[in-house]
Amino acid sequence: STEPKEPVQVEDDQSILGTFGQIRVFAASEKKGIKAIEAAFKRIQYVEDTMSTSVNDSDVHQINQAAGEASVKVAPETIKVIEAGIKYHQITGGRFNILLGSLIELWGIGKPHQKVPTDVEIDEARKHIDIQQIEITNNKVHLKDSDMLMDLGGIAKGYAVDEAVKVLKDHGVKSGFVNMGGDVYAIGSKPDGSPWYIGVQNPIIGANNSIIRVPLVDRSIVTSGDYERYFVENGERYHHIIDPATGKPSRKQLVSVTILSDKGMDGDALSTAVFVMGLEEGLAFIEAQEGIDAILITKDKEVYVTTGIKDQIEIIDNQFKIAN
Ligand code: ADP
Ligand code: MG
Ligand code: MG
Repeated sequence: STEPKEPVQVEDDQSILGTFGQIRVFAASEKKGIKAIEAAFKRIQYVEDTMSTSVNDSDVHQINQAAGEASVKVAPETIKVIEAGIKYHQITGGRFNILLGSLIELWGIGKPHQKVPTDVEIDEARKHIDIQQIEITNNKVHLKDSDMLMDLGGIAKGYAVDEAVKVLKDHGVKSGFVNMGGDVYAIGSKPDGSPWYIGVQNPIIGANNSIIRVPLVDRSIVTSGDYERYFVENGERYHHIIDPATGKPSRKQLVSVTILSDKGMDGDALSTAVFVMGLEEGLAFIEAQEGIDAILITKDKEVYVTTGIKDQIEIIDNQFKIAN
């Protein structure tokens, strides 16, 4: 018959980029779906291998090793992400900074050496986060300060999602999603024409439910929260998003920031930056960005939403209330 076949749903997951990665596609056949997903995961692995600080011989690892000494030839993709990082530093008034490696290493959140550093240690590390010290020439990167460490942890995951989406589309995928531990991109709509519905996670520690449902078609949704990675010392909780102005985990009333955008990389960088900005400044900042929306959640379970998506989102846990 000439009747087109129903698309088949194919899904796979992998532990990748330090998180739980999940890809679901609708494909012309199971074989094609599997092939597309395999290629997408391979691309994500490539991003991890080039941009992770902890992977030996990654571009970023080599840049850090050569800091203060030499320029390092890196992949064009690495240049692209570093240049994007510099752009986000500019547009966020320095809240987003890919040179926080010295502070991130000092706090060691999630690592065996995690501890609350002294103010003297923090002030010393903060001397080595100046974005002007990155030099990019041709395909080479040089950190001019030998105590400086680059860390793309606030942006590379979003970039990896965008790359995976490109690979899936090159394989003919017109419907599906990529989810890298909360950095999600919805490709097209579901085969029946309805949007994908993506949940925003309850930011309260220990809770695992979705509290908001967001319809999504060809768009990215990325969440940064203080509940994701942290340690507790003397009854205080220290999380993994650092305010470059203080050198400490950002202390504002927010517990999570969700960004909707066309590109996962924008969402990743901006969710981190808006978390640092805090409620009022963060909300005003996103309202002023073309094509970007946000959902900001406070400690008091208040939900603030930008005007672009206010009538689209649906609260499904009524402990949380829209406040603006
Ligand atoms: P997640 O990794 O949980 O998705 P984020 O996208 O917010 O969370 O990224 C947090 C990571 O980004 C940290 O683990 C660290 O590597 C890095 N980072 C922390 N603070 C900042 C900041 N102010 N600017 C840029 N990167 C940051
Ligand atoms: Mg981020
Ligand atoms: Mg992230």
